[in-house]
Amino acid sequence: MKVSVIGSGYVGSVTAACFADVGHEVVCVDIDEKKVEQINKGVPPIYEEGLEELLGKYAGKRLIATTDSVFAVQDTEISFICVGTPSGEDGSIDLSIVRAAAGSIGEALAKKEGYHVVVVKSTVVPETTEKVVLPILEEKSGKKAGKDFGVAMNPEFLREGKAVYDFMHPDKIVVGANDRRAGDLVSELYRGFDCEVTHTIPRTAEMIKYANNSFLATKISFANEIGNICKKLGIDTYEVMQAVGKDFRISPNFLNSGAGFGGSCFPKDVKALIGKAKDIGYEPLLLESVIAVNEKQPLLMTEILERKAGDLKGKKVAVLGLAFKNDTDDIRESRAIPIIAELLRLGARIFAYDPMAAGSMKRVFPTIEYCKSAAEALKDADACLVMTEWEEFKELDAEFEDMKEKIVIDGRRIIRAKGLDYEGLCW
Ligand code: NAD
Repeated sequence: MKVSVIGSGYVGSVTAACFADVGHEVVCVDIDEKKVEQINKGVPPIYEEGLEELLGKYAGKRLIATTDSVFAVQDTEISFICVGTPSGEDGSIDLSIVRAAAGSIGEALAKKEGYHVVVVKSTVVPETTEKVVLPILEEKSGKKAGKDFGVAMNPEFLREGKAVYDFMHPDKIVVGANDRRAGDLVSELYRGFDCEVTHTIPRTAEMIKYANNSFLATKISFANEIGNICKKLGIDTYEVMQAVGKDFRISPNFLNSGAGFGGSCFPKDVKALIGKAKDIGYEPLLLESVIAVNEKQPLLMTEILERKAGDLKGKKVAVLGLAFKNDTDDIRESRAIPIIAELLRLGARIFAYDPMAAGSMKRVFPTIEYCKSAAEALKDADACLVMTEWEEFKELDAEFEDMKEKIVIDGRRIIRAKGLDYEGLCW
């Protein structure tokens, strides 16, 4: 089939490359000319394991990129909206980018002959596909949904860092559509995947994504709350959660306590659902607590640090890990951000290291020192905070020898070295 993907960031570029890999012809669209140029050269616009290989194989062949959405829509049968859906100032969803993308697809549809399906893959709050995207498409195209074109919602569940693997091995594929023809065409795209398609209506598909992410975020905040209580009681929370996770109703995943969740999805999606719930007159007490625990959690690390190291003014603090999790260069909502902001407020000198994400963090904190290795960051440091679960941090040992004071506060329970003044966040 011929597919266009509007928005070629994390989700768009992975969707495009994976659809090409299962045999579809794909046109990527982005307003960012640099990304378009990179994709056409087979260079991934983001780091994701396996993406470079796929783009190298298909770019310029089954996969091309352009800034021209009219061409992309006219040349394909189905268009996926994969643009960002950030939080607005009050935390609720900002749909302006989705509206703009829907507008340009609508304008292109006006000039296209024949049936076309528009699929929302961006994470959007329930009712958005039907009440925001569909009316824009009808207005801009002058055509009728359900007759001249179809509309569907197909949420994405991939994990950053494992995005290509997850896309190719989904545990669920959800297709929400009000008309059968549109839903069937979207399902057809996934024919090569070893996964059953759940057919539903758009608003249910939208809610499935929010319920999914909110539940995972809730598990993390729950594990952190239990971890904070365990620490005060001198109980090993990891031992507790390991046993709790053996209950088949709970599962052992997402029960590791630590500095909390970040990334482009969990914080913004939980906040967006809170915003939507309030809009319709419901007070989502549990979801609000999930966010409150998550915002407090990283700052407990600086409290421990001050207790151990005293006044931080002028002290050298090594921050290991800037990405919101390992195996990605994404720093969006990384727990390292509130930590660095707090350390700066307290007057510390920050020497940061991350195997991949330093470039992105430089745009947020241009004035702190960025090191080329953990060893460089640790040299002569008064303390160290571990923020991301990178594999290489697990191997650190002799590198700590060069610290001035061997105070190490671990936010992820990964440091194995002995002989340190070590304290875990919840252990
Ligand atoms: P992103 O910011 O990485 O990518 C969005 C891209 O859209 C950017 O390249 C941007 O330049 C482009 N863009 C903006 N306006 C455009 C327009 N009018 N036309 C064409 N391109 C345009 O975002 P992302 O992380 O890929 O997320 C996209 C959506 O997918 C969001 O709704 C997000 O919540 C959801 N999602 C993300 C993940 C994830 O792990 N990142 C997982 C599942 C779902």
